[in-house]
Amino acid sequence: MSIMALKAFARTHQGLVRGDNQDAYLVRAFPDGLLAAVADGMGGAPGGREASHHAIEVLERAVRQEPRSIVELERIVKRANRELYAWAHAEPRLYGMGTTLTLVQVHGQEVAVVHVGDSRAYRLREGRLDRLTKDHAVAAELLASGLLTEAEAQHHPQRHVVTRVLGPGSSVRLDVLVVAWRPGERLLLCSDGLYDVLDDAAIAEILSTHRGEDAVERLIEESLRAGGPDNVTVVLVEEEASDGR
Ligand code: MG
Repeated sequence: MSIMALKAFARTHQGLVRGDNQDAYLVRAFPDGLLAAVADGMGGAPGGREASHHAIEVLERAVRQEPRSIVELERIVKRANRELYAWAHAEPRLYGMGTTLTLVQVHGQEVAVVHVGDSRAYRLREGRLDRLTKDHAVAAELLASGLLTEAEAQHHPQRHVVTRVLGPGSSVRLDVLVVAWRPGERLLLCSDGLYDVLDDAAIAEILSTHRGEDAVERLIEESLRAGGPDNVTVVLVEEEASDGR
């Protein structure tokens, strides 16, 4: 069974507080599938912008015309890590740079996910929004081990401190998974600039009433209305409406 026309709608915005945009994204459509990725350069260290853009470039170069196996995708992301690590050691101004990377590839009846950091991939199935990724961040990990409540984690001073990213280490542990893809499902990738100001219920609500570009615009608008404290990037993957919209 081939996939109907899958499309990705994407937008990134600097937000209203930050001096630059250190988020980056990639969308690549294949004849029979699609790959999308979001990277968010690590704040509090130099080179966040360089790190996120370079990770996306490595992916872009490596994934040209056709979908890759999950093993290949993992290898490509590890290569990005090694390149960032080497670059930072060659250029002192970039020492310590890092970036999140969350990528999804839809091919056949599968979604491959490779993830590190605190950007997120969600799947929307029958109105329900499921997180496909775990946040590699201090507060999220304390929450997962039962040391914080959801409410405490939401306001924890270290909620933005990432525990795993590409760049700072010579090797990196990635989360890799493959889940089933069913017709009609949608995928959402985002940086923390979105979910920090919009909870999952608010995101699901917007996605239930908007599609495609409208949905992406609306998510960005709502994050700005909430103060736009961080760079915000949204990529929405869905089947094109049959009337060609
Ligand atoms: Mg961010």
